Amino acid sequence: MEVTLLEATSEPERLVCQAARNDYMSEFVADTPFEEVMADVDGDTPRERTETLIAQLMDHGHFGPFEHPQATFAVEGVSRSCMAQLTRHRHVSFDVQSMRYVAFDDVDPADVREGAMVVVPPSATDPDWVGRNQRTADVDEADAQRREELFRETVADAVESYQELLDLGMPPEDARFVLPIGTKVNIVMSMNVRMLMHVADMRAAADAQWEIREMTEKLLDLAAEWCPVTFDYYEREMKGRKNRLAP
Ligand SMILES: Cc1cc2nc3c(=O)[nH]c(=O)nc-3n(C[C@H](O)[C@H](O)[C@H](O)COP(=O)(O)OP(=O)(O)OC[C@H]3O[C@@H](n4cnc5c(N)ncnc54)[C@H](O)[C@@H]3O)c2cc1C
Repeated sequence: MEVTLLEATSEPERLVCQAARNDYMSEFVADTPFEEVMADVDGDTPRERTETLIAQLMDHGHFGPFEHPQATFAVEGVSRSCMAQLTRHRHVSFDVQSMRYVAFDDVDPADVREGAMVVVPPSATDPDWVGRNQRTADVDEADAQRREELFRETVADAVESYQELLDLGMPPEDARFVLPIGTKVNIVMSMNVRMLMHVADMRAAADAQWEIREMTEKLLDLAAEWCPVTFDYYEREMKGRKNRLAP
């Protein structure tokens, strides 16, 4: 899996501060120098004032100003299962690689066994992995070997059947019905900072599945570079506070 920042609002935290200060100014924010906009906020430097204001907004649950900066991410190679979880978030905008217009006819089923085209979950390869609702934790070496073999065989067979169906004239949009839910997909998605925090609340949490958690941690790393003050505060004070859209 790879997650990349494609495009993002420049100076996002300046924008958050301008939007928030607008609510309490008699002057027009667009005509006021940023230093003046922030003059009443505690701190000796612009950075300190930004830190003060962002901490106050987060503490008070004043999340509206965080809706102005927007970021677009490209996600490569997550499963369609992960995609189904992600696309439940209604304030995120998505573009999803099509299986109607893209035919995966040049993938070698032997490579699928090794992780091409279908995500291999850690529970298929790690004998000690413990996941949710696992039927038994009592897995001996033979069981572990068999489940890895069965997983790899099954997904490779599915891709082979899919490609044969394409050769037999079935349209990709119908042949895809035989592909596993672990089939990889590329996604472009855009969201604002408030929504990024909400997705992190829900999907970086311990009860989310490993794949969407991993993706969300990568999003958070990129977010921390883009909006350092906000996501530093989020990591320290707010992460794990589920569904905290408002106080
Ligand atoms: C660990 C885990 C397990 C899950 N298991 C399941 C499952 O078994 N089955 C299943 O179907 N889903 C499951 N989900 C998905 C979950 O129910 C939500 O649909 C998903 O996380 C989207 O989050 P959200 O509800 O906060 O909505 P978002 O679309 O992210 O919206 C953000 C917020 O906006 C508000 N909002 C948005 N739309 C509305 C609306 N129409 N009415 C009122 N308020 C709204 C809510 O405050 C919401 O929290 C699971 C999620 C997690 C994290």
